[in-house]
Amino acid sequence: MIVLDGKIASQSVKDSLKQQVADLMEAGKRAPHLAVIIVGNNGASETYVASKVKNCAEIGFTSTLIRLESEIDENVLLLQIEALNNDAGIDGILVQLPLPKQINEQKVIEAIDPAKDVDGFHPVNVGKLVQGLPTFISATPFGIMLLLEYYKIETKGKHAVVIGRSNIVGRPMSILLSSNSKFGNCTVTICHSHTANLKEICLQGDIIVAALGKPEFVKADMVKAGAIIIDVGITRVEDATAKKGFRIKGDVAYDEVAAKASAITPVPGGVGLMTIAGLLKNTLQAYHDRS
Ligand code: NAD
Repeated sequence: MIVLDGKIASQSVKDSLKQQVADLMEAGKRAPHLAVIIVGNNGASETYVASKVKNCAEIGFTSTLIRLESEIDENVLLLQIEALNNDAGIDGILVQLPLPKQINEQKVIEAIDPAKDVDGFHPVNVGKLVQGLPTFISATPFGIMLLLEYYKIETKGKHAVVIGRSNIVGRPMSILLSSNSKFGNCTVTICHSHTANLKEICLQGDIIVAALGKPEFVKADMVKAGAIIIDVGITRVEDATAKKGFRIKGDVAYDEVAAKASAITPVPGGVGLMTIAGLLKNTLQAYHDRS
């Protein structure tokens, strides 16, 4: 059994990006610049944003963190995005989700210039993904593809079962795995909350991508021996014995499933780190596209 280690794989991506930035600096060019907007102070969002900013610094990107109050009017955020769209020095814009209730997330996603949409959520970029055109791939599915590539996981002809159909994870993941590409060419079944016989479908999966947000949902009796397991889930589960009062749980019951799988991602230390690698790669791409 191989542990698909996001720390090692993401470090490899970051080392390559760091070298590319160093080359740009040596050539007298400016560094790629990512702008991150956070609205309010949701604990998990704060952690993700801090990690994105830290990773930018590690590889030599410039980053700007913009903090807005949770009570702001939607228009304040839209105006902020417009300013960043028009700022020639900004290559990538990321608005950390979820947003407070008074703000329409879809409107916000569509307000970002598709050329700076390094999260890959804009309908223009999703449309390009569907058609197999070069685009910004949503950072988490992109990160998972980078992980499969790093560990040279053979995907061609395999049956991949994706649990979850969200616009940011499940759906783009199903498109990438079914695409005619080196780490695609799977036959994909996409499952969701109305799927009947989920267990039977999972048992047919050579690859299972669990992205439903239900801690330890995928158990050993749902997994065929030798399957490759990608656990996207991140849920904070209260635990009085933990220092922070909670533990991070994935969507897979790790110990029992690992005993049956041929490869598995840990949580934490798996897909989450690859998501950041995907985001950083998209930001450098945005920089080059705009230069
Ligand atoms: P979401 O809530 O938008 O979507 C969940 C999906 O799971 C839905 O499509 C729903 O139909 C499906 N689902 C729910 N219950 C189900 C069930 N019992 N059986 C089958 N399908 C079911 O969530 P999301 O934004 O896609 O995120 C999913 C998980 O991944 C969350 O835990 C989230 O925190 C995590 N996540 C992690 C990363 C990362 O970087 N590792 C990035 C994004 C999201």
